[in-house]
Amino acid sequence: MAVPKRKTSPSRRNMRRSHHALTAVGHADCPNCGEKKLPHHICASCGHYADREVVKVAD
Ligand SMILES: [Zn+2]
Repeated sequence: MAVPKRKTSPSRRNMRRSHHALTAVGHADCPNCGEKKLPHHICASCGHYADREVVKVAD
């Protein structure tokens, strides 16, 4: 099995992890009910997409 020759220093380890940050997901307001929804997705609370009902939501 291949084994690293040297221990990774804290500096090298932290440099590697500098790309690991998460980014916040985008959101848009539903034009029908005003709830937050993901862009280009059906609204989870009212089932609308592009100003028409696509999915019936049981209430
Ligand atoms: Zn909605």
